[in-house]
Amino acid sequence: MEDCIFCKIVDGRLPAKKVYEDELIIAIEDISPVAPVHLLLIPKRHFVNSLDMQVSDRELVGHIFLVAAEIARSKGIAENGFRIVNNNNAGAGQSVFHIHFHLLAGRTFTWPPG
Ligand code: AMP
Ligand code: ZN
Repeated sequence: MEDCIFCKIVDGRLPAKKVYEDELIIAIEDISPVAPVHLLLIPKRHFVNSLDMQVSDRELVGHIFLVAAEIARSKGIAENGFRIVNNNNAGAGQSVFHIHFHLLAGRTFTWPPG
């Protein structure tokens, strides 16, 4: 999409610190981290959030969780624990309307989330 920040990062129109890429997704460092490790896993295909997901995206979302777990292992944060967060719509904190999954680690997290 023309004016989407994450589409621009996916196709190289905007810079980002990319830590992973394959044919389906990229993972980048969040520009405004809220934890010592704060990555965003972003599908290359633009869709808004889980409300906009198609049946054909079923495997894609599973793939994202597998990659997140692999990144967590490779960064040595798996054992202590990490969070995968997906905000859906503004009331839940979504500010970029191209679906993405936050991978957060490196500090203690509280529950319930804020
Ligand atoms: P959400 O609020 O769940 O939609 O998350 C959007 C995330 O994207 C926030 O954590 C922002 O800090 C992050 N973000 C926004 N613009 C950029 C950018 N250009 N590069 C990296 N992360 C970004
Ligand atoms: Zn997009």
